[in-house]
Amino acid sequence: MTLKHLFREGEKSLLEVFEPEEAKSSAWFLLAGCFAIDSKDYLLLADQEADPEKAAAYQAMIRRRIEHEPTAYILGEWEFMGLPFYVGPSVLIPRPDTETLVEEVLRYVKNHFQKKSKIRILDICTGSGCIIISLGHYLSEDYELDLYAGDLSPEALETAGRNADRNHVDVRFVLSDLLQEFESDRFDIIVCNPPYVASKTVEGLEPDVKDYEPHLALDGGRAGLDIYQRLIPELKEYLTDEGRVFFEIGDEQAKDVRKLMAESSVFDSIKVVKDLSGHNRVISGKRKQQNV
Ligand code: GLN
Repeated sequence: MTLKHLFREGEKSLLEVFEPEEAKSSAWFLLAGCFAIDSKDYLLLADQEADPEKAAAYQAMIRRRIEHEPTAYILGEWEFMGLPFYVGPSVLIPRPDTETLVEEVLRYVKNHFQKKSKIRILDICTGSGCIIISLGHYLSEDYELDLYAGDLSPEALETAGRNADRNHVDVRFVLSDLLQEFESDRFDIIVCNPPYVASKTVEGLEPDVKDYEPHLALDGGRAGLDIYQRLIPELKEYLTDEGRVFFEIGDEQAKDVRKLMAESSVFDSIKVVKDLSGHNRVISGKRKQQNV
């Protein structure tokens, strides 16, 4: 069977359960991953006979996708900020939305820190490590970084550690329930993409997410705000003077999280940033000066 034929068949089978766009992109990503090809290779190889073992592996991948298993888990890796990350069922698949958070921190660092200065950054709820590792990758040439990341899940930390090695970024990973294990540490920047989906919404998510991705990384309690509520008052002790926190948020949470930040009396210059689809996606705030 040729590659073209396999691709067509894969897409056709997926059309039985997915919209055309999803069927095509899943069939393509699985083909590219299975045969280790890019679109240029495909143009050259499409009419050639495919290796029968790989062809069978591809068909098995399509069968898994039909059951709604996410393409990223089937391949075992996914791209974020142009970098490769291992993923598995113990970590959330990196979302393009989260690139907004990373871009915002990159912009902030470039505007606020002199080149070569020392910056301590902590990522809480690190999951696959995609946020802290991307920051390390894109900032390490110009700054002296001290990178830390915590997560409650030992399995997630294991994946994050492999991702740091894979991307040659030096991160200290710590098994920690939020800030618990970071006592008496101060950071210039704290980033966090916490679970923020309201519990009852998790049940209504599409099967690809609900049945496969870790609920620990999605479920943010009754209103999805549990982690923000716990973290915001505590952050004062963990940020340097004028240190800044950057949270990912759900579109409808900007008002509530802004209120939590304002009422905590810990933060000022609170800023909300939208993602590429125009949804509120990031909120950041600067720690107030101690004598204010
Ligand atoms: N954006 C993710 C989703 O809607 C949720 C991510 C999170 O809870 N941190 O599936």
